[in-house]
Amino acid sequence: DRVDNPYSGANVYVNPEWSANAAAEPGGERIADQPTGVWLDRTAAINGAGGRMGLREHLDEALAQKGDGELVIQLVIYNLPGRDCSALASNGELGPTEIDRYKSEYIDPIAEILSDPKYASLRIVTTVEIDSLPNLVTNTGSRATATPECDVMKANGNYQKGVGYALNKLGDIPNVYNYVDAGHHGWIGWDDNFTPTANIMKEAATTEGATVFDVHGFITNTANYSALKEENFSINDTVGGKSVRESKWVDWNRYVDELSFAQAFRQELVRVGFNSGIGMLIDTSRNGWGGSARPTGPGASTSVDTYIEGGRIDRRIHIGNWCNQSGAGLGERPQAAPAAGIDAYVWMKPPGESDGSSSEIPNDEGKGFDRMCDPTYTGNARNGNNLSGALPNAPISGQWFSAQFRELMQNAYPPL
Ligand code: BGC
Repeated sequence: DRVDNPYSGANVYVNPEWSANAAAEPGGERIADQPTGVWLDRTAAINGAGGRMGLREHLDEALAQKGDGELVIQLVIYNLPGRDCSALASNGELGPTEIDRYKSEYIDPIAEILSDPKYASLRIVTTVEIDSLPNLVTNTGSRATATPECDVMKANGNYQKGVGYALNKLGDIPNVYNYVDAGHHGWIGWDDNFTPTANIMKEAATTEGATVFDVHGFITNTANYSALKEENFSINDTVGGKSVRESKWVDWNRYVDELSFAQAFRQELVRVGFNSGIGMLIDTSRNGWGGSARPTGPGASTSVDTYIEGGRIDRRIHIGNWCNQSGAGLGERPQAAPAAGIDAYVWMKPPGESDGSSSEIPNDEGKGFDRMCDPTYTGNARNGNNLSGALPNAPISGQWFSAQFRELMQNAYPPL
């Protein structure tokens, strides 16, 4: 039987491959024993792509790390047809129509391995399909942010079918805990997006044989940079009679940070029909925003904009920026049950792994070049036509990016 919070009273798996990369950097041993997500980002990753550990090797190592205690291993299910429809950096190997290959070549083999009785004592957390369902809400149809690729995925329904199939198959395994990806506050926090996203989660979770009982919870901020807590202002603040919601940065969002968003979105998900016991995960791998640029108090009360600009902890140029953000730092260290409704703070994105290349780099993983990873790019509708804020000289997504890792340590908050 599943426990309410798999992270409670459990250690979490340290990926030896990530750990070795971290430890090889100066000062990296300070965090090399932290748990990070294992990304099954293509079919070949199941057996071990390019000489790397496959799923069974990770699970065997997890049993060794477990010993007599409890252990969570965190897997990222990430290979939908037409993956990453609003960006190019994490396009995958399956075309928009290849739902059957997703099922038979990707989910079925994973489910077969995870249901091996040998692994029954592990608590297996699966985070299901990063960024996919929110894209169907915000980047389709008549919206200025729409992309042709997301319109295709909305029309063919293969994101919902894929997520539903994965939840159903993996949810049949008694020691698997499914957490569906729910974007972050700087994406889903607006009224236009909040309830529609909860509804599409419900639709996916009741498709292809899945039910809401296959969903243990949701994860927010995966591989993103949204601050956990904006300590210098709240959504209820006003300046000169104006709500901070009118500031350029907040721009009418209902939430200013991840913790308040995750707690509110949890309630919304329960309202639309998910179980009242669902718990949230928040990816705090890269949302620390420490270092010398971190504000120590609110900005000047001249206007809502001076107040927010001077005080905000998230130092991005625009909240829609997502690739290798300059100035970011490691966030809260992974921990269980840190706040009401939150099962854990996790490092699902392994810090130091790139979000995408700064210029085009040929590869055999289906990864495209997204100009949001190019520091000279002046943006598009999805980031308010601002500079991308990306670090230069990045390798393709998933590859080790030493300069970023070093900056993340330097700007860690809490500091290392
Ligand atoms: C990439 C994956 C990678 C993951 C973790 C994603 O952006 O597309 O290939 O495994 O990041 O670094």
